[in-house]
Amino acid sequence: MSQDSLIKFQCRKCKQINYYSTKNKKTTKKKIELNKYCRFCKKHTEHREMKGK
Ligand SMILES: [Zn+2]
Repeated sequence: MSQDSLIKFQCRKCKQINYYSTKNKKTTKKKIELNKYCRFCKKHTEHREMKGK
């Protein structure tokens, strides 16, 4: 019933997955990139959407 799919946000520097979210496949086609705090890099880095499962 839900069109939302789970996505993960992966730090582009260390490749750790730091955040989880959901997005609506129908309304959000673009890949999401966010500037978020990475506790592994200990600073804000670019996080990129990965397909969740
Ligand atoms: Zn990182």
